[in-house]
Amino acid sequence: MPSFSIYTLGCKLNQLESEALADAFHREGFELLPWGTGGAYGRDCGANRASFAGLLVINTCTVTSMAEQKARRMIRKSLRENPGACLIVTGCYAQLEKAAIEGLDDGSAGNKGNPFPPQPLAPRRLFVVPGDAKSALLELPRFLHDAARADGTIPAGPESEAGDLRSLIEAWVRSREAGGAGDEAGAFRFVPGDFSSHSRGFLKIQDGCDRHCSYCRVTLARGPSVSLSAEKALTGLRGLEEQGYGEAVLTGVNIGQYHDQEGRDLGGLLDYLLAGSNNIRIRLSSLEPDGLNGSLIRALAHPRLRPHFHLSIQSGSPLILGRMGRPYGPDEVEKAAALLRNIKTDPFLACDIITGFPGETTAEFEKTYELCRKIGFAWIHAFPYSRRPGTAAWSFKDPVSEREAAERVAALLRLAKQGRREYISRWIGKEVEAIVEGGDEKNALRVQATSENYLKLLIDVTPPPPSSPPGTVPAPGTLLRCRIRGLPGGEAGQAAGRFDAAAEIAD
Ligand code: SF4
Repeated sequence: MPSFSIYTLGCKLNQLESEALADAFHREGFELLPWGTGGAYGRDCGANRASFAGLLVINTCTVTSMAEQKARRMIRKSLRENPGACLIVTGCYAQLEKAAIEGLDDGSAGNKGNPFPPQPLAPRRLFVVPGDAKSALLELPRFLHDAARADGTIPAGPESEAGDLRSLIEAWVRSREAGGAGDEAGAFRFVPGDFSSHSRGFLKIQDGCDRHCSYCRVTLARGPSVSLSAEKALTGLRGLEEQGYGEAVLTGVNIGQYHDQEGRDLGGLLDYLLAGSNNIRIRLSSLEPDGLNGSLIRALAHPRLRPHFHLSIQSGSPLILGRMGRPYGPDEVEKAAALLRNIKTDPFLACDIITGFPGETTAEFEKTYELCRKIGFAWIHAFPYSRRPGTAAWSFKDPVSEREAAERVAALLRLAKQGRREYISRWIGKEVEAIVEGGDEKNALRVQATSENYLKLLIDVTPPPPSSPPGTVPAPGTLLRCRIRGLPGGEAGQAAGRFDAAAEIAD
């Protein structure tokens, strides 16, 4: 079977969906190649080109114009550098700009400097599958497998002979286009058999969003909020636990909008999952500050819920929050942080902030900065505002210069680094649970791990914990109790930014 490679832009949800696609192709015998390897896709592989010409997928994002630029650049580069390959583009950008993306394949890519370009222009080898039909791509591997020759090969093309990869994909895309958009259930078919991280499993419980924040294109690309039934979510969680994952990350576009047929909200789902599973720990992706209702707070207090919360705040200025269409103020943000600190011992609190939103004067930004400083976040993900077509904010007046927006991001990043240092210093000498991510290339008796409160740790495993056979280190996904000793290798380690702290196995 041909080789297969996938390139993912955007959020954890997109990454999870790409893992599921890669898994589906792998199960049908496609050779998975890391993106950009096997230059042999190129024209110079002579006789055995057939076995190299492969299938490339780019899973796109539309959150920022930068993400779309990256996608266009990668599409052009892939077409140019892999004249023998077929390219499928899917995801949120493909959902909103199908025609524009299709226009990137003018059939000339790969002919640059070729004195004898084929006439008329080569048939298309760039196929756009909109995001709402992405789940249908899970069927393509089987379709191609069944269409393969008796010897399991699929001719590469692009001479587009019958049965070659390009014309098979052409046929599949046409049949699928006739079938229209994917159904609601399709949104939850992305269940990889295994995760490349091998330490934590991801579980998609929700998709889409019912809000209409004035700057956001996600809700345009992914549609209204849909939720996986609690029963299916529990089956997924139990599956991860049986596979040996010590932790599952519940993900979606806006998991705070989870709502199943039985009327369970996110708090109700967590209660159901915790009651129906044994030992697996649960970590949540982003939460909205105004979404911390009583049932959720009660559920979050459970010891198997990780003390790590990411609040999607965006601004600390009431004026800007109003213009963004965010239904809360700085007081609710402070209250949310206090609630979370009340149910967990010094949890890792992080947040998202958009700087440079239209109308954000220096004074308004200072309100955001002051709110973040006052709450003392352990990390701040700050992004410059990106004007998006199709959003209400597209036509907003009082733009802020890119330079000013970038300076505000830099100021928040400095505050974030200070907050992280202060947070880590509060945990030195304390015991935490951590999940092993993998070995340490620098020291065979050390492992890399992520603590329950989201610190990146280097753990000395001498002597190895009883769960590990002598002379071995704990495998990825293993849960360990350890004591945080200090900064890894002093400031240098910290500066390297790869690890937050050094730790040792707790007695
Ligand atoms: S909550 Fe707002 S920003 Fe988040 S996905 Fe929904 S519309 Fe977009």
